[in-house]
Amino acid sequence: MTIKDNLQTVLQNIPSHVRLVAVSKFHPNEAVLEAYESSQRVFGESRVQELSAKYDQLPKDIEWHFIGHLQTNKIKYISPFVTMIHAVDSERLLIEINQFAKKSTRTISCLLQIHIAKEETKFGFSIEECRQFLESKRWENLENVQIAGLMGMATYTENSAQIRGEFHSLNQFFQEMKSSVFQEKNYFCELSMGMSDDYKIAIDEGSTLVRIGSTIFGSRNY
Ligand SMILES: *Cc1c(COP(=O)(O)O)cnc(C)c1O
Repeated sequence: MTIKDNLQTVLQNIPSHVRLVAVSKFHPNEAVLEAYESSQRVFGESRVQELSAKYDQLPKDIEWHFIGHLQTNKIKYISPFVTMIHAVDSERLLIEINQFAKKSTRTISCLLQIHIAKEETKFGFSIEECRQFLESKRWENLENVQIAGLMGMATYTENSAQIRGEFHSLNQFFQEMKSSVFQEKNYFCELSMGMSDDYKIAIDEGSTLVRIGSTIFGSRNY
């Protein structure tokens, strides 16, 4: 199976209201170009250096999403061009992104990462922390970031009922915020959940953005 074939298969499994972020991390420019030639324009990367290099070398109409854990001292390398940052896990990071976006006279779409997995290692706000922060409206002063929605990763497990339950609670919280804090703000519309192994469950549970890597590009050599 080629990248083109894999991409077509994935796209056939995604309804039209869900967008695909093709996760190209650890894969070379040639792999990105093969997907690009099949009309894919949205790509996700999780390392700043790799994303910057790909941005420099690849077509400029690609929409780049940063999906990894972002350190504040590295924001400046991607703020001039990144379209969306998926895993904003603290107010401090959001404030820093706002400052760099302002320097570039841009507005950057950000998703707040919610910790839904029953694992210690995953970053993110708890639902309670996130609700408090959003209800505080402190983010309204940050004019160069737009909170476009939420993002979460399920536990790495074979137990699909558990995965479904985690995505379900994230969607419930997303809907709650959409109809309260963001009631008159239509830009709060994205729920980024679902990877190669769990994107079908995530779509069932309300995902609007799926981040899929290995199913399209093959396994990664770390
Ligand atoms: C790597 C990565 C993905 C893609 O994972 P696959 O299992 O290869 O589809 C999705 N989301 C995040 C945050 C990632 O780091």
